[in-house]
Amino acid sequence: MTDQLQTTATTETPTPADEQRPSPAPHTVDPTLPARLAARVRAGADAQTFDCLTPFTGGVIAKLPVSTVTDVEQAYDAARDAQTGWAARSVRDRARVLLRYHDLILANRDDLLDLIQLESGKARKHAFEEILDVAGICRHYARKADDYLKPRKHLGAIPVLTQSTELHQPRGVIGVVGPWNYPLSMSITDALPALIAGNAVVLRPDEKASLTALRAVELLDRAGLPKGLLQVVLGPGQTIGEAVLDRADYVMYTGSTATGRKVAQRAAARLVGASLELGGKNALYVADDANLRNAAESAVRSCFSSAGQLCISIERLILHERIADDFLKHFLGRVRKLTLGGDLSWGVDMGSLISQAQLDRVTQHVEDARAKGATVLAGGHARPELGPYFYEPTVLEGVTSGMDCRMGETFGPVVAVYRVSGDEEAIALANDTNYGLNGSVWSKDTRRGRRVAEQIRCGTVNVNEGYIAAWGSNGSPMGGMGESGLGRRHGAEGILKYTESQNISVQHGTPFKIPPGVPEKVWARSMATGMRVMKGMRLS
Ligand code: NAD
Repeated sequence: MTDQLQTTATTETPTPADEQRPSPAPHTVDPTLPARLAARVRAGADAQTFDCLTPFTGGVIAKLPVSTVTDVEQAYDAARDAQTGWAARSVRDRARVLLRYHDLILANRDDLLDLIQLESGKARKHAFEEILDVAGICRHYARKADDYLKPRKHLGAIPVLTQSTELHQPRGVIGVVGPWNYPLSMSITDALPALIAGNAVVLRPDEKASLTALRAVELLDRAGLPKGLLQVVLGPGQTIGEAVLDRADYVMYTGSTATGRKVAQRAAARLVGASLELGGKNALYVADDANLRNAAESAVRSCFSSAGQLCISIERLILHERIADDFLKHFLGRVRKLTLGGDLSWGVDMGSLISQAQLDRVTQHVEDARAKGATVLAGGHARPELGPYFYEPTVLEGVTSGMDCRMGETFGPVVAVYRVSGDEEAIALANDTNYGLNGSVWSKDTRRGRRVAEQIRCGTVNVNEGYIAAWGSNGSPMGGMGESGLGRRHGAEGILKYTESQNISVQHGTPFKIPPGVPEKVWARSMATGMRVMKGMRLS
């Protein structure tokens, strides 16, 4: 695939030269790709199709089949058949597939980057975060799964005579439903630990992420994943997404908090476990002793990566009043120079929003704030000359409680600035949200940074980083507190949730039977003494 569109612009007002640029050439995919990938979808030969669009132009880049509920049922049947043999293989054997997949993802990164960009509209450097994420998850679980899943011995009821072992059995078939914002990461990284734990997966990626998800699955096949183990179905969330989750032995859902509530209720009604990764209203606090240049540089990335369509991106900047003006000088200087565009190359700082619905939401939040008295320090406009859904990176000040963007997730390139007098006020403001996904604290004194971080009610808090330090630490859990979710991905929790613990306890001898010739009273006294000794030794 070649770079086709060269339209870039800074966020400053367009010059006459910008306006005279020729219209961008259409973005396209390799013409053989849609048919090849469609064959990977569980759908009938006469299935209806839907259009895959690129946000860069709003044009159609491929057509893919829509699955039916019957297809979903067949996907589950096939996945269950494949799962038995897979679970019988050793964890190390299963891990080899992930190591090969790691190499294939890196070897095919250019074509994956094109596809991610075309489907999501994001800048190439933001698409690259997805490549790193998948490669990191592959390596982490390939190397660590054996340890996470290995049987663990525990002290039995009667020491020596009882041997107790904890096993982690695969749950069966995991249903994965993901959003559109990270078409590679959010489609595949939750499936990988589920698979290595011995499960099969039925994956329903978002329709706006389907091409990338299918390409990722195609590479997983090439890495040696047994046929049938990972089934892909496509279609609307409320029919096909729901059908997938309603049949799952465990539900893995990523999306908005509103949908997450419904998903949780349906899983609860079936007494099936669920992991929910939901929305956020994340804050970054710059203390009065922070390195302001570094903080400003990182804040730009943390607010505007993937045009703010990142669950852990920053929508609230909390600034210590002593350094607020200096910080804003650095920050706004960088924001105003950001380049926007749809190039499939490395030169652009920020891409497009995904759809008209996202553009409407972002515009509504900014206009509502403006109308109610907020000041626009940077941005604040759509950029239709670049493509149908481009919107400038936008900084607001004076946002108050009556404005929609104060509490509601914008999920776009919009950040509001708040000034505080010290750490306590910053912590209270950071926690003044129902969400609890990600936070960031900036201070040269890392002890102070940790102290503040521990008081912020978020699943991840980065000190002197915005989001990548926590996201990229694959051994540590990642997820949301409050209305940002249930359960965690990454680390031990990110794989053990796909298993059920089983306690196998083997008894040698019959200690509860009174030995012949021993009076019942003597036997009872010696058992009680034994229990007291064990309690004293804190053995059980
Ligand atoms: P959404 O809730 O509208 O949809 C998410 C996915 O669920 C979509 O593919 C949708 O089609 C599907 N869906 C809708 N109704 C469903 C149902 N009843 N049953 C099953 N599936 C259904 O969210 P969105 O707009 O696609 O994504 C943006 C949201 O996702 C934001 O709130 C963002 O913060 C959140 N998000 C969270 C994380 C995280 O890791 N915490 C990651 C990415 C996105």
